[in-house]
Amino acid sequence: MPNTISDLPLEPFKIKVVERISLPPREVRERELEAAGFNLFNLRSEAVYIDLLTDSGTSAMSDEQWAAMMRGDESYAGSRNYYRLEARVQEITSYAHVIPTHQGRSAESLLFSTVLKPGMYVPNNMHFDTTRANVEANNGNAVDMLCREGFDMDSDFPFKGNMDVERLDAFLAEHGREAVPLVMITVTCNSNGGQPVAMANVREVRKICDAHGVPLFLDACRFAENSFLVREREEEFADRSVKEIAQELFSYAVGCTFSGKKDALVNMGGFFACNDDELARLLTEKLILVEGFPTYGGLSGRDLEAMAQGLEEVLHEDYLAFRIGQVRMMAAALEEASIPHIKPAGGHALYLDAKAFCPHIPPAQFPGQALSTALYLEAGIRSVEIGSLMFEQGDADTGEAMHPELEMVRFAIPRRVYTTRHLQYVVDAIIRLYEKRDSLCGLEIVSAPPRLRHFTARLRPVQ
Ligand SMILES: *Cc1c(COP(=O)(O)O)cnc(C)c1O
Repeated sequence: MPNTISDLPLEPFKIKVVERISLPPREVRERELEAAGFNLFNLRSEAVYIDLLTDSGTSAMSDEQWAAMMRGDESYAGSRNYYRLEARVQEITSYAHVIPTHQGRSAESLLFSTVLKPGMYVPNNMHFDTTRANVEANNGNAVDMLCREGFDMDSDFPFKGNMDVERLDAFLAEHGREAVPLVMITVTCNSNGGQPVAMANVREVRKICDAHGVPLFLDACRFAENSFLVREREEEFADRSVKEIAQELFSYAVGCTFSGKKDALVNMGGFFACNDDELARLLTEKLILVEGFPTYGGLSGRDLEAMAQGLEEVLHEDYLAFRIGQVRMMAAALEEASIPHIKPAGGHALYLDAKAFCPHIPPAQFPGQALSTALYLEAGIRSVEIGSLMFEQGDADTGEAMHPELEMVRFAIPRRVYTTRHLQYVVDAIIRLYEKRDSLCGLEIVSAPPRLRHFTARLRPVQ
């Protein structure tokens, strides 16, 4: 576990192209935050110095990927780039059908609009926000079944993304396969901190699914990071390559949704893949209606080629060691400064525990949002709240607001983008803010839409 910069695995790349960034002055940051309605999603990117809003679609592509873009075959039908992507996906997943989509959520939309009937349930270790929204938009019930350790910020349990298998078993026994069209596992579990799922857990979930006749799918956005962490933490896999581990992971599911914006190292793209012929047929029909012809599915040929190349590079073990090492180095620095954060650090991001960081701000005043906006003012850093603003729900019976168990601020690390000095700057700013945490002030909503409100809500400081 790296604790200092010199313990960090060496960069397995050098820089060929740079992009200018600068820190806007404090007055500008104040003005921009006000204009953005205290929602960092509403900021112009130029008002941000270090942008850790997401690791999604923010990767730096390699020279090989840019070269791949030049090999784009923009034929409407039968583009050679599709066949290369199909072969690459099949090599890793062994799924027969590969359906490209313009990003992960359109794969989710195709899947859930096809398999869900009103009132059905989808169990998941923990739904990602767009996954939950797509289940609910199709009148389904998204049920999170994360293991108990996954909610304990201080637990150093190595697989905090695991599904609670006893709960899943009981749930499937109660509702039966008529009401549960599929079970999903999200690797790594984004919504509780990029925490990995153990292969042993995936095997158990598969066994339970088989016993109840329900198919298992993966939300596979970060399959490579999960596989890397499996090798590190599950003894059985210590001598296996990350690629072999990924292959085994996919072998337990019949299909997956995938956002290329994560572990395919591209700025846009995704796919759905599966072994179910009938399901693939139904999704392909819908794909033509909403995305495009089956061999491009909402993407250009060049995008398919870059994704195929990225799927190869993401399994490079020196790359994964450096990437996950960067996140750990930040976590180790926060630990040293006794700043409350999720332990152990996940694969793609660092998460502060906002409840413990600012205990004087109640969940109804969005402590995570208060913390992330304060850090923007402090240092021009953009992070994202994952807490009450993103996940608060009205109680079905009383209509009263129910707050999620975790109030977090996520710092997602774009792949191959920021230097270690950049990330040190972020850690230093968090430490400075922690020293004056009593001055942080809660927020209230001015306006918000009913679904996925965190993207566009406007807020203001509580008077
Ligand atoms: C990003 C993400 C998605 C959705 O993918 P998009 O490409 O953003 O539409 C789904 N699930 C998880 C776990 C994700 O991280």
